[in-house]
Amino acid sequence: MADTRNEQFGSGANGGPHRFGVLDQVIGRAAAAGIFLDVDGVLAPIRPRPDETFVPEATRELVRRLTEHYRLVAAVSGRAAPDAAGLLGLDEVLVVGNHGMELLLAGEHDYLVPPEVIDRVQEATAALELNPELRALGVRIENKTASVALHTRGVPDEPRAWRAVLEAAQLQAEERDLIMLPGRKVVDLRPTGINKGTAVRRLFEDRQLRAAVYIGDDRTDIDAFRALEALRSSANAYTVSVAVVSDESPEDLIQWADLEITFDEVPELLTYLAGARP
Ligand SMILES: [Mg+2]
Repeated sequence: MADTRNEQFGSGANGGPHRFGVLDQVIGRAAAAGIFLDVDGVLAPIRPRPDETFVPEATRELVRRLTEHYRLVAAVSGRAAPDAAGLLGLDEVLVVGNHGMELLLAGEHDYLVPPEVIDRVQEATAALELNPELRALGVRIENKTASVALHTRGVPDEPRAWRAVLEAAQLQAEERDLIMLPGRKVVDLRPTGINKGTAVRRLFEDRQLRAAVYIGDDRTDIDAFRALEALRSSANAYTVSVAVVSDESPEDLIQWADLEITFDEVPELLTYLAGARP
């Protein structure tokens, strides 16, 4: 992966390779390529509360333009699929919600997990909602049906709330055979065996893709980076993993990435993907 790290590339201004040149192989195969975009922290800024964020109009227009060039454009989110779809507001984009457990395209919704698994998640959610410590610390519990998210951002004592959330989530994970996933001031509790990586791999195969880009900023996106890495070696595919880095970035994210950018550079990268036509 080291040979494609962005620091190896020049600015392009002096005739050297473009900083985003690592994407050229995907752009050249656009008709058989997929663009996978995480939503929060990539298309939408991180806000103190997830319901306060939005996708800037310029970014939305760039994503729409991508759908004209690429075989598949998918938003891959930890949010429930209808929530992510509402944030993006583009019917032509496939929405993968709930960390790979839901698909939504033009109003057609599918759960990729059986009902008894959703029941276990709902039992855990009910137990967490009744937890007096989490309530006292102001932890926000978001019921996403096939998963549950515990938010600590902006509560009065974030470190203490974080510890309480990890402990309560771990207990529920063990009792109900779920998996706990810490992210950027949010802990997700969800079924095992399905993640952003399994969803990306499935779509890559279903849509018979030959190339893909994934852009993500958080721990759960590493599963997708790993899936692209596996496809690169086994399916002879051309794939690029792009990390959107911040001072909250998990270290593993950068280790698995081929290119690192900041949130403010996302529109520039989408423009490159949309505009550099042969
Ligand atoms: Mg994110």
